[in-house]
Amino acid sequence: MKAGRREFCTIILGGISLLLIPGKTGLARGKGDYKPWYGERYIPSGHRYGMGINVDRCIGCGRCIDACKRENNVSDDPFYFRTWIERYAIAGNGEVTVDSPNGGRDSFKDHIREKNVVRAFFVPKICNQCDKPPCVQVCPVGATYKTDDGVILVDEEYCIGCRYCIQACPYGMRYLNPKTRTADKCTFCYHRILKGLVPACVEACPTEARIFGDLSKVASPLSRFVRINRIMVLKPQLNTEPKVFYAGLDMEVR
Ligand code: SF4
Ligand code: SF4
Repeated sequence: MKAGRREFCTIILGGISLLLIPGKTGLARGKGDYKPWYGERYIPSGHRYGMGINVDRCIGCGRCIDACKRENNVSDDPFYFRTWIERYAIAGNGEVTVDSPNGGRDSFKDHIREKNVVRAFFVPKICNQCDKPPCVQVCPVGATYKTDDGVILVDEEYCIGCRYCIQACPYGMRYLNPKTRTADKCTFCYHRILKGLVPACVEACPTEARIFGDLSKVASPLSRFVRINRIMVLKPQLNTEPKVFYAGLDMEVR
C-alpha cells in the first residue's frame, strides 16, 4: 500500500509540475499531523532543543557514532551516518586536510605524522536542526517537517523518496534509508528526549563533548554553554539558523 503511493507520486513528480502536487492529490502531510508520541502533559511549544559541541573535548573515539547506529538502527554500511567525526589537520603553510575513515566510527588509528601540522582536532557533525531548514522548504509532500519543539523530522509514511531534501541540505546530513527508501537523518533521538533522556550520542560521549539541552530554559546546560563560550555555527552565511552550537571551532571548518 505504502509502496504503491510512493511509486504513484514518483511518477507524478517526474511528469507534472511540482506545484500541482501538495494539497491537490490529498497526499501531502498536513501541519499538526504529529504522531501521538508524547503524553498530554508534554507541551512541545514550551521547548526548543539544541546541541552544543565542545571541539576541545572531542577525542575522536567514535563511541557516539556507534551509539547512534545502535539506537536508531542505522545501516552498518559505511555510507550511512546520522552523526560522524571529521579530523582536521592544519599545516604551518595553512594547508588543511580532513579525513573521516568510516565516519570516525573505528576511531582514528592512523596518526598524523607530518611534522608541519600545527593544529589537529576532531569535529563531530550532526543535523543542525536548522530553524530555517531548506530541507523542509523543498519537500513537495510535507513529509519533512519541524516540530513545535524545534526538531526536524521525516514522516516515512508520507516520504516519497524523491531526494529533494537530500540535495537541499547544505550540510550533507541526509541519506536515503536503504530499507525504507525514504529520507533519513538525525532526529536528536526524538523518541528519547520526549521521555526526558538525552540523545544516545550525548549519553555515550566519555568526555562530555556533546551537550544537549533546551534553549528555552535559561538555566539548562546548553543555554549556559552558549552563554559562556565563544560560539560558532556551521555555514552561518546561509542563514539556516542552526541549533548545533560549536565552541573551539577553527575558521577552517566547513
Ligand atoms: S542540517 Fe540539513 S537536514 Fe538538518 S535541518 Fe538543516 S537542512 Fe535539514
Ligand atoms: S564520543 Fe565524544 S569524544 Fe568520542 S568521538 Fe564522539 S563526541 Fe568525540
